[in-house]
Amino acid sequence: MIRVLDARFLTTAVEEKGWPPADAPEIAFVGRSNVGKSSMINALTGRRKLVRVSNTPGRTRTLNFFDSVLEKEGQRRTVRLADLPGYGYARVSQAERASWEKMITTYLQRRTSLRGVVAIVDAEVGATEDDVRTLAYLVGAGRRVLVAGTKLDRLGKSHRKPRLGSIAERLSVPRDTVLGFSATEKLGVAEVWDALWMATS
Ligand code: GDP
Repeated sequence: MIRVLDARFLTTAVEEKGWPPADAPEIAFVGRSNVGKSSMINALTGRRKLVRVSNTPGRTRTLNFFDSVLEKEGQRRTVRLADLPGYGYARVSQAERASWEKMITTYLQRRTSLRGVVAIVDAEVGATEDDVRTLAYLVGAGRRVLVAGTKLDRLGKSHRKPRLGSIAERLSVPRDTVLGFSATEKLGVAEVWDALWMATS
């Protein structure tokens, strides 16, 4: 059982020189805009407003860093969480899309302390083209990936496991790297932390 002792906002960055020092194991969160990424980070850390849950998709254009202090069986560890801006928002210009892509790919390729990436997928919708492309990129970049199928509460209980299975298949990742999640019902919180603890060990 992992306990979150503390969670706090660290800094916001656009360029590499704004990243915090690579002095703590880091986990990045990516997903389609409006997928439920902010809600997931808030649910994981147990802080309702750590990340602003925005009703305006596509607005966050920065990397946001948070520090969480975890404890498991008497062992304490700081894990840095990097909230990456959401992708797949239709109403942005080519130039904006290009600058977003550069910011993300630079981070994913160069961040030395990055230990894993949580790729968030809407379990109700299933994996989209954008999700498939993102997963292929992450795997190609050699990153360890955990897929979180969120908003699982929107599916009837009997549909949940099959949906997570089809997400794994569509994304071409092992079934056991896809976990179900719900921010509203707090499903999957312990399972995701366990996986992140392992990834940062
Ligand atoms: P972000 O843009 O990816 O950060 O997404 P948000 O966290 O802002 O959430 C987008 C919308 O989805 C909001 O209206 C949330 O209330 C809703 N939402 C997020 N997570 C869940 C969930 O687990 N279940 C349900 N039913 N709704 C969710």
